[in-house]
Amino acid sequence: MRQDLVLLSMFAGLAVVVLPVVFVFFLALGPAGWLFTGVSIVVVGVVVAAKADDDADETPAKTNCPECGSRVQVNAPTCDYCGHAFDGPAPDDTPDPSAP
Ligand SMILES: [Zn+2]
Repeated sequence: MRQDLVLLSMFAGLAVVVLPVVFVFFLALGPAGWLFTGVSIVVVGVVVAAKADDDADETPAKTNCPECGSRVQVNAPTCDYCGHAFDGPAPDDTPDPSAP
């Protein structure tokens, strides 16, 4: 209980000190500052999205087995699940309506 009060008063003191500083800071920024802040947020978002796309590309490409519909490696010669042999190049990643 005492610790809760100490923590609460610390947060209250922090808010009393920090909030006016943040408020004045954003007031002092002006239109150029707002533009810079907005552009920065957009740039960070684009970079994060691009990194997420890169991570997705690193996962090995998979396709649906035409025989059993299991997810198998694109360059696998046979299906790991039913043993279906892919003739020639593995089939492209065709959309499977039964897949979730
Ligand atoms: Zn199969």
